[in-house]
Amino acid sequence: MRMPIIFGNWKMNKRIEEAQALARGIAAEAPTDRIEVGIAPPFTALQAVSEVLKESRVHLAAQNVHWEMKGAHTGEISPEFVVDSGCDYAIIGHSERRQQFGETNNTVNRKLKSSFSVGLSAILCVGETLEEREGGRTEELVESQVRKCLDRLTRGDITKLVIAYEPIWAIGTGRTAAPEQAQQVHQFIRSIVEDLYGRETSSNLRIQYGGSVKPENAFSLMREADIDGFLVGGASLELESFIQILGKSLEAMPE
Ligand code: PEP
Repeated sequence: MRMPIIFGNWKMNKRIEEAQALARGIAAEAPTDRIEVGIAPPFTALQAVSEVLKESRVHLAAQNVHWEMKGAHTGEISPEFVVDSGCDYAIIGHSERRQQFGETNNTVNRKLKSSFSVGLSAILCVGETLEEREGGRTEELVESQVRKCLDRLTRGDITKLVIAYEPIWAIGTGRTAAPEQAQQVHQFIRSIVEDLYGRETSSNLRIQYGGSVKPENAFSLMREADIDGFLVGGASLELESFIQILGKSLEAMPE
C-alpha cells in the first residue's frame, strides 16, 4: 500500500506571518497519520514555517532549487540552503518554472540529482500543454519528460521521488482532468518507471495529480488506482479548502 501524499504549493503567495498562520492551522488539522501532508511556502518563509511545523508531521518543501551547491549564481538557492531552512522536500520542474524561466528536462535532471545528494526528497512535475493533448501527443511528451528527467538516477534515488502529473491546461484554470483521463496517464507513467527500474520500484512510486484540485473533485480523483495524492496550488492557500481536500481524500481511501 502506498501512503497517499498531498502537498500544497503556495507559489509566490504568503508573507511570513500569513505563512506561519496557515501552517499552524494545517499542523493542527491535517490527518497526517494516514496521509503524508506537506507545504511549499516561498523561500522567504521557509525557516519561519519550519519553526511552526517542528512538533508536527507536516513536511516542508522548497518550490525550486539550483543544481549547484554554491557559487556565482546570483538569485539562486542551493539545495543545501533549503535543507538548512528545514525542508525535507523540493518541488522540481514545475511547469511555471519550465515556461517562465526556461527550465529544461536536462536542468530538472541535474536538480533532482543534487537534491537527492543532500538527502532531500523530490516532487518531479511533468505534464502536457493543451496543444499537445489535442494533438494526441500526451503520452509521447510525458514519456520523454520522465525518461529525460530520470536519466541516470539510481533505484535508490527513485525511493525518494514522487512524480506529479500536472497537465498544464488544468493548472490554475479551473479545468480538471477527468479522473479516468488522469488515471490513464498515471498508469502510463508507472509503466515507464517499471520499464526503467522494475516492478517493485514502480509499484512503490507515488504519483500525484495536480491541476485545479478542489474539495469538489478530490474524492473522485483519489478513487483512481494510480492516483496517490495531489499537488494543490490555489486551493492550498486557504486552510478550509486544503483541509477539505485532505478530508475528501481520506473518504476515498480504503479503510
Ligand atoms: C500547481 O501549480 O501545482 C497546481 C496544481 O495549481 P492549481 O491547483 O491552482 O491548478
